[in-house]
Amino acid sequence: MTSFREIPSVTALLKTEVLLEAADRHGQSAVTAEIRAAIERLRKQIATDEQPRETPSMETLAARIATTLDTRTRALLRPVINATGVLLHTGLGRAPLARAAAEAAFQAAEAYCSVELDLDTGERSKRSQAVADLLQLVTGAEAAHVVNNNAGALGLALGALAGGREVIVSHGELIEIGGGYRLPEVIETFGGKLRAVGATNKTRVDDYARAINSETAVLLAVHPSNYRVSGFAESPSISALARLAREKNIPFVHDIGSGALIDLGRFGFPDEPVAQASVKAGADLVLFSGDKLLGGPQCGIVVGREDLVQQVMRHPLNRALRVDKVTLAALRATLALYAQGDQALKTVPLLRRMSADADDLRRRAESLAEQLAAADGPWNCKVVEDQAYLGGGTTPEQGLASWSVALTSTTQTAEALARTLRLGDPAIVPRVQHERLIINLHAVEPADDHCLFNAINAALHQGAATT
Ligand SMILES: *Cc1c(COP(=O)(O)O)cnc(C)c1O
Repeated sequence: MTSFREIPSVTALLKTEVLLEAADRHGQSAVTAEIRAAIERLRKQIATDEQPRETPSMETLAARIATTLDTRTRALLRPVINATGVLLHTGLGRAPLARAAAEAAFQAAEAYCSVELDLDTGERSKRSQAVADLLQLVTGAEAAHVVNNNAGALGLALGALAGGREVIVSHGELIEIGGGYRLPEVIETFGGKLRAVGATNKTRVDDYARAINSETAVLLAVHPSNYRVSGFAESPSISALARLAREKNIPFVHDIGSGALIDLGRFGFPDEPVAQASVKAGADLVLFSGDKLLGGPQCGIVVGREDLVQQVMRHPLNRALRVDKVTLAALRATLALYAQGDQALKTVPLLRRMSADADDLRRRAESLAEQLAAADGPWNCKVVEDQAYLGGGTTPEQGLASWSVALTSTTQTAEALARTLRLGDPAIVPRVQHERLIINLHAVEPADDHCLFNAINAALHQGAATT
């Protein structure tokens, strides 16, 4: 029982130099809470230990508490250099914003903003008004609306249009995207009755036509996102479905998912649906994310027929899904870049990264590998051919030709090295593959290469020193 009495008090620990400094960084209450938690853990340990153990000294305990606080804070929301080779990584916040979009977001954030006030008339205005004109211009649609994300956009559209009646969708499109987002459950949750037609691999216009009855509310097409039916497969074109829906006077909703605003055929992705194409093919509502291939902030975009967009906006859940002024400002600035045509390929970071030249990537990888080799330590690096991916629920099978640096250390495992890099400054997220650390440069801006080298160099030395 002696060990209980040996545990330092909260007050005594708070007065140690290490924790006084920690309080400057994290605040007094966070440090106090962590001290209490550490003491509690120690008490439990002592109580359950069969063999009495030595109680750590005041200094050891204080240092341990400071490290816990530092590590935890360092592991929270921080800027990351994405060295995974996945351009749209949901875990890393999907698309980075263009400089113009980030600046617009900053300005909107810092001040009051005419988010729902028409400065011309002084009257209350609609929130989506701030981006509707540009969305109409860029997609060719009659009307537009923006909500929190695309899952919300689909839910709202179904909630507004289905009203307990049938939603016709192909068996081949009843997908799970990730994070528990399953289309059949989404449809039911938002008040639609699922009416699946066709087979997993083949669905024809006829299958939809035969399913239409007096209970039909919506004809729905969903891009299969990160899932592919290939081989003996068939699905009707969007224009054929639009024609059928128009004949039968049923709204046709097309969830295209990733929301490219330019044809990605030039990058080798001819099958990624483009918003304008879907509008042109006659879909009544087209839904997509703002932070996938559009390269903007997180949001869900609804474009299409004026009367249907109005109906969606009137749904009671619209308020629960509304976007804030910061998102609207960033989206408006991103869309303005698209309004300038091919310039967007250079100004929207996602498009710029997507069009990175493989030879350039190889040269950058070689330069990084040379610098790391010259830094001289117990590690090995080599330039390897690699694939980068769009990610974010886009074409899963097809990659972009890319290059990486493969790194191994003789003193630490690839997993340990990856953790040191993630906790470094700046944080770097690489891939671990076959016990090697893979640093892919496709999603890294060339301007960050030096910063990337410094962080890896520091992590390697730190790892070599602590083992
Ligand atoms: C990504 C995706 C969604 C969900 O969009 P979020 O913006 O992540 O909510 C819905 N449908 C499809 C087809 C998608 O690809």
